[in-house]
Amino acid sequence: MTIKTRFAPSPTGYLHVGGARTALFSWLYARRHGGQFVLRIEDTDLERSTEDSVNAILEGMAWLDLDHDEGPYFQTQRFDRYNEVIDELLERGHAYRCTCSKERIDKLREEQMANKQKPRYDGHCRGRDIDPAEPHVVRFLNPQQGEVVIDDLIRGRIVVDNSELDDLIIRRSDGSPTYNLSVVVDDHDMGITHVIRGDDHINNTPRQINMFAAMGWSIPAFGHVPMILGDDGARLSKRHGAVSVMQYKQDGYLPEALLNYLVRLGWSHGDQELFSREEMIALFDLDAVNRSPSAFNTDKLVWVNQQYIKQADLDRLAGLVAEFLDADGIVYADGAPLAAVIDAQRERAGTLVELAQLCHFYYRDFDAVDPAAAKKAFKDGADAALAAVRERLEAIDDWCREAIHAVVADTVEALGVGFGKVAMPLRVAVTGGAPSPDLDLTVHLVGKAATLRRIDAAIAAIQGRG
Ligand code: GLU
Repeated sequence: MTIKTRFAPSPTGYLHVGGARTALFSWLYARRHGGQFVLRIEDTDLERSTEDSVNAILEGMAWLDLDHDEGPYFQTQRFDRYNEVIDELLERGHAYRCTCSKERIDKLREEQMANKQKPRYDGHCRGRDIDPAEPHVVRFLNPQQGEVVIDDLIRGRIVVDNSELDDLIIRRSDGSPTYNLSVVVDDHDMGITHVIRGDDHINNTPRQINMFAAMGWSIPAFGHVPMILGDDGARLSKRHGAVSVMQYKQDGYLPEALLNYLVRLGWSHGDQELFSREEMIALFDLDAVNRSPSAFNTDKLVWVNQQYIKQADLDRLAGLVAEFLDADGIVYADGAPLAAVIDAQRERAGTLVELAQLCHFYYRDFDAVDPAAAKKAFKDGADAALAAVRERLEAIDDWCREAIHAVVADTVEALGVGFGKVAMPLRVAVTGGAPSPDLDLTVHLVGKAATLRRIDAAIAAIQGRG
């Protein structure tokens, strides 16, 4: 049997991290088992579905590189097929027309609530002979006896008594099919073998299984993925900050880092934290997915991102950081090669936004040195040390690390002071106090003209002229 899974988002917003993780698990399951992955857009809610949202979902999936083998299918293009199935269910006595008024249903609900019963349709129109010309809805005739057993791939066995389930509407009075019916028809027609989705759909599953059975269709396996919580224990939502996948791109996360973080959120393989795409595919399975919700932890995501930044291809990283620098108005084309600067700074950055910021001082003079750094480094005599090293730096013809290193050592010796007395003020003068790598590399990358200019500014500041 070829395994076929799907991701079936409703286009009523962006792709959020919860959806992305469900998509990832579904995609991984297909890839792990050499199967196929289908993308289906569930846009039957015409009021809430938007094209922008469809595009946002496609964009998010593409950014994460969760590639599909089929689709995207759009449910709005399949109404005829859903109606065909509804008619067949009617013909075969598995569905019936219902003319109960809203008032009647509301009254029924009120009574049931007053009696502390679960509100449910009472089957009033079952077996009644209703003229199709009359305004009506169509209800699925749920079996009244027996139970539905779900051997959930994540949660284990779930048993639901049919007496718990009422006859749900499968076609509205305007003729449009409802969600539960469309999903069943699609999952059948598209040959889905494994339905992996969020556990907010767990109540729909027994009803859907009954519909598969009524049509005589084979029933797929189900796996319900627990939700993601915010760090406060509430369901992850906008107020926890970024939840749109594309916002993570803007915040400077690498897609492979977000995927790696998401796969670990609720799934584990020993205590391994970092997984390449290939490793994820080779190792993923649903039985190691947690049954309970997992809490989103931004610090951990930043840590994972940092690991990926450290090992990413330099040219790719340069391309990505360049976008952030452009947005910050930093001109890097005339300065040190961006890849070299990134290589010098990347181990200090948790995100590309931070990395871009750590690149600023290589290309643009800062307005003022960080006061805390200035206090530490610009002590008595620092101006003299800077003047002495400046003179020697200016004399360098071949601006290379070795020459810079030699000049600093020479100055230290000439002044008869400790290394730090020269190195500290020089570093702070050149970087403004930003985190930086080895001094000779830093000075080399900043360049001769900017180095001399910044030393002058520091001397002026120390002497109270800045
Ligand atoms: N369209 C549903 C949603 O976005 C998913 C339905 C399903 O996966 O069966 O919540």
